Amino acid sequence: MSTKKRIAILGSTGSIGTQTLDVIRQHRDLFEVELISARSSVDALIAQAREFDAANVVISDERRYPQVAEALKGSCSKVWGGISSLCDLVRESSVDIVVGAMVGFSGLRPTLAALEASKTVALANKETLVAAGPIVVETLRRHKGKILPVDSEHSAIFQCLLASGGNPVEKIHLTASGGPFRTWDREQIARATAAQALKHPNWDMGAKVTIDSATMMNKGLEVIEARWLFDVPAEKINVVVHPESIIHSMIEFKDGAIIAQLGCPDMREPIGFALSYPERITVGNRKLDFATLGSLTFQAPDLKRFPNLELAYEAIRRGGNAPCALNASNEVAVAAYLKGLISFYDISRINEKCLAGMDFVAQPELDDIFETNRMVASMANDYIV
Ligand code: MG
Repeated sequence: MSTKKRIAILGSTGSIGTQTLDVIRQHRDLFEVELISARSSVDALIAQAREFDAANVVISDERRYPQVAEALKGSCSKVWGGISSLCDLVRESSVDIVVGAMVGFSGLRPTLAALEASKTVALANKETLVAAGPIVVETLRRHKGKILPVDSEHSAIFQCLLASGGNPVEKIHLTASGGPFRTWDREQIARATAAQALKHPNWDMGAKVTIDSATMMNKGLEVIEARWLFDVPAEKINVVVHPESIIHSMIEFKDGAIIAQLGCPDMREPIGFALSYPERITVGNRKLDFATLGSLTFQAPDLKRFPNLELAYEAIRRGGNAPCALNASNEVAVAAYLKGLISFYDISRINEKCLAGMDFVAQPELDDIFETNRMVASMANDYIV
């Protein structure tokens, strides 16, 4: 029997997906690709299937199934179409680790399917925990699955916690690069185009998370993600802007001692650690050189220029389905901004209106979460004209 870890990558053609495959490419002796999936990037998916001899290949957009099936005819890959096949396949015993790298709310259903089957999920899809934190936590508890964080900040906190000796965490310091508009004034930011927002200074990421990074909604979503991953209330999670992105996050204890995790910004490091945990592997990244590093700087986030961060704290304070509503609105607003339909500050304006106008449910079931996502997405769309 093979001792390789068998990996399923949901969203294999995106930024996290391709970087996960790059780590696997460097360690064919440790990992094999059991499943890859993409929403619609047919050509990239076919090329990945061939390179990695993926046992299962899922194209979520079923209209594109015939094209993928035809291209992989006679190969060792089985081809499937649709999200429900994806949910079935991640439950299979042939999968050891599920990498949740899909974009947005679409990651929720397959992530829950994997956790219900007691799998280890290497989670990059923060929207899953934002939209349905308590449900994900309960699913984890009931089925004894595991989530290993891939988001760099949460991987950092996870690594810091390994050194905590079980002492309670007094505070989490979540670092933020500040994004491409950190030094711009409000008037400049108001006129920023999507092309400008997509130029992230430090991290190589997909379009959705890069825009979220420019509005600082990404940090807001990460506060909510950290709240559920580490069972720490939001008021103990402090965001600090650290433009160099060298410290990936920190934890503080009651005696004021702080443990930080550092490294060059490269997503392959947290991906590699989630895949190989508890061991460490090489991932082909640049190593930190303290002699040439220079200074590390820090500042408080500016909530006036980046109102989305405050909205995220408000959503987590209200609880219930409020974070789900905020996420739904934000997904619609970011997509519209990327298409040039709305301006930069319209994103937070729409988010604020949706948060105020949503139907609040204090203890949402999964159906309520899907309903909230649908209703608020439609509400947000109505604001885009
Ligand atoms: Mg992050």
